[in-house]
Amino acid sequence: MRDVNKHYGPLHVLQNINLEVKRGEVVVVLGPSGSGKSTLCRTINRLETIDTGEILIDGVKLPEEGKLLAKLRADVGMVFQSFNLFAHKSILENVTMGPIKVKGMKKSEADKLALQLLERVGVANQKDKLPAQLSGGQQQRVAIARALAMRPKVMLFDEPTSALDPEMIQEVLDTMIALAKEGMTMIVVTHEMGFARRAADRVIFMADGQIVEQATPEEFFTNPQTNRAKDFLGKLI
Ligand code: ADP
Ligand code: MG
Repeated sequence: MRDVNKHYGPLHVLQNINLEVKRGEVVVVLGPSGSGKSTLCRTINRLETIDTGEILIDGVKLPEEGKLLAKLRADVGMVFQSFNLFAHKSILENVTMGPIKVKGMKKSEADKLALQLLERVGVANQKDKLPAQLSGGQQQRVAIARALAMRPKVMLFDEPTSALDPEMIQEVLDTMIALAKEGMTMIVVTHEMGFARRAADRVIFMADGQIVEQATPEEFFTNPQTNRAKDFLGKLI
């Protein structure tokens, strides 16, 4: 992201954002509610437009619209707080739909890929069920498999565990940690500080639409530089 600015009416929600995420890097975005974390994620997938600046994915500028936008979007996998699975489709179909519809993959091939991915996130035995028959943690792991089925270059996670019951948080975090270890490029908005410490190569702290601090997790948690960050960390305990 280069010099990215965005407004919602009078609100300057993203202020001169410059952020480069390298291949294989895991960046955790922290910050108080309303600081612009979700908006930042959503601009990377062009779910939100930007006013000025540019966003490049693997060196290619994200266009306003058209075929190239659709292609680049497929490179960016997204997992939200609410799992957004298709309620009337089976778990398997939830994962095969993108590859079949967007990538023109044959059903047999898509089934094979989906089964591999469901296996990887530990829910292959649920493949014929409907989303509502799964626990929240299982549904979120399906959502991760669904995003991975598009073979993204980068995965965005926006508070993926915030809607889960406490006992299901760890299974989703473990899936994400495994993904990080496999070398996936990840941008993760989370309040799970244990995950940030364990999995992040870099922590970004946002406040009021700005990136206020960037550091390794070790540096950020032991020696935050700004009062905003100290205040934020102080409130966590
Ligand atoms: P965070 O994810 O850090 O909690 P958001 O990116 O969701 O923050 O929101 C940042 C700010 O932008 C908040 O003040 C929020 O109210 C505002 N905002 C978010 N989406 C919209 C929208 N569609 N229209 C107007 N204001 C919005
Ligand atoms: Mg948010």
